[in-house]
Amino acid sequence: MAEKRVVVVVGTRPEAVKMAPVITALRRYDDLRTWLVAFEQHSDLLRQALHSYALVPDLTLAVDRRSSGLPELTAAVLAQADTVFAQIRPDWVVVQGDTTTAAVMALGAFLERIPVAHVEAGLRSGDLADPFPEELNRRLITLVSNLHFAPTSTAARQLYHEGISPERVFVTGNTAIDALVQEEKQHPLLRHAPLRRRLIVVTLHRRESWGAPLRAVCTAVRHIAMQFPDIRILWPVHSNPMVSKTVYSLLSDVPNISLTDPLEPNRFHRLLSRAYLVMTDSGGIIEEAPFFHIPVLIVREKTERPEAVACGAARLTGTHPDRIFAEATALLTTASLHQAMTTATNPFGDGRAGERIAAHLARIANGGLSQAGNLPFLSF
Ligand code: UDP
Repeated sequence: MAEKRVVVVVGTRPEAVKMAPVITALRRYDDLRTWLVAFEQHSDLLRQALHSYALVPDLTLAVDRRSSGLPELTAAVLAQADTVFAQIRPDWVVVQGDTTTAAVMALGAFLERIPVAHVEAGLRSGDLADPFPEELNRRLITLVSNLHFAPTSTAARQLYHEGISPERVFVTGNTAIDALVQEEKQHPLLRHAPLRRRLIVVTLHRRESWGAPLRAVCTAVRHIAMQFPDIRILWPVHSNPMVSKTVYSLLSDVPNISLTDPLEPNRFHRLLSRAYLVMTDSGGIIEEAPFFHIPVLIVREKTERPEAVACGAARLTGTHPDRIFAEATALLTTASLHQAMTTATNPFGDGRAGERIAAHLARIANGGLSQAGNLPFLSF
């Protein structure tokens, strides 16, 4: 049987982190030929993450994300999709998550009648405006996908609820956990090494956080740092100027706040594993922190990862500075509250998601699901 050609698409840091285990696992199958196609959006962060996992793209396409708006980005990626498909002639296209690159490549594949597999399928905030445009992207990818790899059973249930046939949905765990399991095997003692001062890690980058919410979080972080001079706050600042300009202008003068460039994923994970608390709007970090038993304050109004809140590992604070300050203060001053959040069981997987996804895809690409190569497209 001829080998099947699989294109795996990445465009941002979290896609690289979460696709790395999938690519590694797919490359173990002799009857699959896997191409890594990189759309360089935030090229510095993407390159850093690819480097961290020793991944070299087979094809790199430049998209100038910063100088163009979402309509231009959509048009640019769709135009490039043609080049990718003509050059590689894939039997499958695999996309991850909810970026515009992922959604547009999935749409491009659909228009060429190439089957699409979606990694991290079924997440929903329920609000098309938040996160924007990611909620639309996820829904669009679901509509055009033939296979849906759901990280949790909650995500799978959402897909069933939307009418996706259960035989096309596989609960795999989140691939974010795979990297952490590997890293922990390499550094088994690291997360237990004591820190001299309690550490709060902060990250914020999402579009809906830009402007007033970001300034409000900075106000809260400043207040926490002043009130608790014995703790250390570390904020690896996203390189998007919409974020970095504000953060540096509001916080660079506070002695116990360190602002740094973004860290390589494995370095960031080692740091996260030793934190007392993390404050973030990042989806990936909300998944990673419970693995290390680090409490999370989600500084957003909504989350599409309710599992983290339901299991007790995270709290949704919104973006009002008083509320964030109060939540952080409670965790810094009441040991039992902090302790309760650290005992939650990680709901996001066991570190074998990439393996499962590759096994399903290899089986189905080779005819394991009836008519899998030519699935009827969904209609509502
Ligand atoms: N991350 C990193 N370096 C940093 C901050 C975060 O490698 O300085 C990693 C983090 O561990 C997670 C991913 O980046 O795996 C999350 O990416 P991001 O917050 O950009 O996007 P989101 O998860 O919100 O889509």
